[in-house]
Amino acid sequence: MVVKRKDRPTVIIIGANFGGLKAAATLSKQFTVIVIDPTAWFEYLPGIHELVSGVKTPSLLKLSSPRIVQRSGHRFIRDRVVQILPEKNMVIMKNGKALHYDFCIVAIGGVKNTFGVPGADTHAVSFSSIENCRFIGEQLKHFTKAKTLSHIVIVGGGTEGIEALGEILRKVRNIKRIRIQLIERKTRLLNEIPADIDSEIRKHCGSYPVEFITEASVKKVTRKTVFLTNGKRLKSDLTIWTAGAKPHPLLLLSGFTETAEQWAPVSITLQHRFYKNVFFAGDAADVPDIKSKQAYHAMDMGVCSALNIKRLSKGKELHPYKPWPKPIIVSFGDLDTYVIAGEFVLAGSVLSSLKEAVFQKVMMDFDPAGIAQKGLHLSSRAVRSALPLALSTAFSLSALKRLGKVRLLHKQNEKQQKNGT
Ligand SMILES: Cc1cc2nc3c(=O)[nH]c(=O)nc-3n(C[C@H](O)[C@H](O)[C@H](O)COP(=O)(O)OP(=O)(O)OC[C@H]3O[C@@H](n4cnc5c(N)ncnc54)[C@H](O)[C@@H]3O)c2cc1C
Repeated sequence: MVVKRKDRPTVIIIGANFGGLKAAATLSKQFTVIVIDPTAWFEYLPGIHELVSGVKTPSLLKLSSPRIVQRSGHRFIRDRVVQILPEKNMVIMKNGKALHYDFCIVAIGGVKNTFGVPGADTHAVSFSSIENCRFIGEQLKHFTKAKTLSHIVIVGGGTEGIEALGEILRKVRNIKRIRIQLIERKTRLLNEIPADIDSEIRKHCGSYPVEFITEASVKKVTRKTVFLTNGKRLKSDLTIWTAGAKPHPLLLLSGFTETAEQWAPVSITLQHRFYKNVFFAGDAADVPDIKSKQAYHAMDMGVCSALNIKRLSKGKELHPYKPWPKPIIVSFGDLDTYVIAGEFVLAGSVLSSLKEAVFQKVMMDFDPAGIAQKGLHLSSRAVRSALPLALSTAFSLSALKRLGKVRLLHKQNEKQQKNGT
């Protein structure tokens, strides 16, 4: 496709969270930029687990997306895009209006994946938004006051499931009337991480009313029961669904993919394979070198796609997206935190300050004024946080170990293997 040069081309960005807002902030006023999202809030999803324990409040984790967009000199439309017509360079919104674009950035993330399990959509709370995690926090408060036994079932033992469990334990671990069961399809918890964090998590939970059910899948969910494929039935007053995301239906509907299971296939320049003026940023894209969907990839992809639109509009050569190898930080309430950097896994509660520092840096970058309004809470935590460490992209292993009380799990396990223990 030949992209015509125009004085002030129109860029439509669909989705205003990590990828979309970063793209908007990167585009200058040489473009007419319109950002469309049905919600008016940027949500800091990597921090929503702390709403469960009440360590954070909803207002701390959100920023006004219209304000962020307007700060960059662009227009925000609060609506849902119901279809993209890439052959006609057009998007259709729920209000019925159609908008024409010269370039489009699709940053719509994914949607909850219940794998077709009956009842999961209705009776399980998806661990995927501020509102849902606030609701889980409220439920916990009720359980702490209840005179009878309360049962919580967490579906999924990946990072989200473990972070959810950690925050529940932070809040209610000494209340014997609350029972927690976590179901994981694979043989070990945090299966996607090379080091054996499974045994660490189990050790932490030893004295608390937590049961791990691995190599088990959910067959059906009702209001008070979770049915497993192995025939077990679990009582549940609160079922938390952390079992992953699937592609947004808009991708298939707009002809970007061939099946509902596919993420948008993009080239290394983040362009759609066939529609060269449509770029993808964040979870929606299927980027060959990226194994896990992470907010930092979404932000970097937002910047890359915006810069490539600038280049394309000037007839310049586009740059490839190069994913930066950044560590993943998984917190386990106040019991532990794991920093996974390549083959190394460091553990220690002190590392939670890194996650806090990353949170503050991202919020500050998106909206410095909004952060100032959130006041002292952030500032006082900032003092305690290891900001310089977290922000060093190199994440020096020796520097992290100097923090004290930090364990190197991978090396430990290698030693154990050699000793046959
Ligand atoms: C519980 C949890 C914990 C996580 N922890 C971490 C972590 O520790 N570190 C990390 O790096 N990442 C983490 N992630 C992943 C990270 O949040 C995602 O990778 C990131 O949010 C992806 O950004 P995105 O912009 O692609 O999509 P999203 O953040 O999902 O945003 C998509 C946006 O598109 C909008 N949208 C959807 N449909 C439409 C439509 N039809 N029209 C217009 N707009 C639409 C939505 O309203 C939303 O604003 C976590 C995610 C979750 C859920």
